Amino acid sequence: MTNQKKRIAIFGSTGSVGTQTLQVIAAHPDLFEVELLTAHSNDELLVEQALQFNPNAVVISDETRYGKVKQALASTDIKVFAGEKSLEEAAAFDSYDLMVAAIVGFAGLKSVMQAIENGKAIALANKETLVVAGDIVMRRALENRVPIIPVDSEHSAIFQCLVGETRNRIEKVILTASGGPFLGKKPNFLVNVKRDHALQHPNWNMGAKISVDSATLMNKGLEMIEARWLFNLAPSQIQAVIHPQSIIHSMVQFEDGSIKAQMGVPDMKVPIQYALSFPHRIPNDFPRLDFKKISTLTFEDPDTKTFRNLALATEALHKGGNLPCIVNAANEIAVWAFLRNRIGFLDMTEVIEKTAEKLPFISQPTMEEYLESDGEARNYAASLIKL
Ligand code: NAD
Ligand code: MG
Repeated sequence: MTNQKKRIAIFGSTGSVGTQTLQVIAAHPDLFEVELLTAHSNDELLVEQALQFNPNAVVISDETRYGKVKQALASTDIKVFAGEKSLEEAAAFDSYDLMVAAIVGFAGLKSVMQAIENGKAIALANKETLVVAGDIVMRRALENRVPIIPVDSEHSAIFQCLVGETRNRIEKVILTASGGPFLGKKPNFLVNVKRDHALQHPNWNMGAKISVDSATLMNKGLEMIEARWLFNLAPSQIQAVIHPQSIIHSMVQFEDGSIKAQMGVPDMKVPIQYALSFPHRIPNDFPRLDFKKISTLTFEDPDTKTFRNLALATEALHKGGNLPCIVNAANEIAVWAFLRNRIGFLDMTEVIEKTAEKLPFISQPTMEEYLESDGEARNYAASLIKL
């Protein structure tokens, strides 16, 4: 790598991906420096991170917490901004090189778009951005020559398999899925599942929303849509397979039938580090895979009759238009309500299905139409739950 440090802006620094990104940066102070940190409501952690990493600026998007952050950083020269609008403005700052997009949900879309319009490289964890408006996001990235480097472990795996293969046609990509905490369970069990149970993922320690999405298999559906846009694939080229050990992070099958897989212990710091250091690989002391300790690697088809969210997301992948955006919005509302014990595990599917049936289909939406579809789907989903 060059002598100059890469200046990193972490959008969503207090989350699971955000905090792990800071761990990677802390281990390589010679390569990376923190330019900007943003958080929604966890002002205490944001302040702690700011004091440790000394960024140029921080943004707390929940405006009511501005005073606390400002006061806590009063003795420093770190600039403090607040509010949703400031997130977009910060994304347009000149002073950083790479955005780590680690905000969860639709809330991450506008800052990513702003970064793309300003020619910033993006390490993308926020898959919902591509689910909502992947065609427009990727088109603008291409037009602005902005690299979108995946952080999601499956997509990082595919990305790594594709290094050196630019001229070779992909036959299909195979996304692996752990199956989540309820693998093998049936509806009579799932009907009684509660929040705390769903938050216990066997292989990964993640934020609440993605943990629920992993339990319902919606996460894999969102990732199929994410893969479509990231790698410019036809929906029929994308397959999901259950692989409970989470050792193979995903695979690419080429025209000659040859398959490449990327493997390792499940640890998000590996794809995060690769996205920061790409195109280089840099050393670390993360745990290594010991093949003698894994007795078997197993694979099976997902049970889409039980985990119907994956079937709904697959339908959205194939139908396209604003349907993935609608499904994503309804899912965000459903997960929100499930996390507050307002609806049951299986009710989430019903909210998404009814919202997808109700909202008008648009085959080639503009960005404004995506934003409108998101808002309308949220309102309709909320009315179903009587929020
Ligand atoms: P998280 O809930 O742990 O953290 C989310 C971050 O976003 C926090 O910093 C929070 O302050 C911020 N945020 C939340 N709502 C916001 C809003 N309305 N406006 C501005 N900021 C807001 O989430 P996570 O698990 O770190 O996931 C982040 C993204 O990365 C998600 O899109 C997820 O799908 C993706 N991802 C996560 C993992 C993982 O291991 N956690 C793996 C792959 C992909
Ligand atoms: Mg993933």
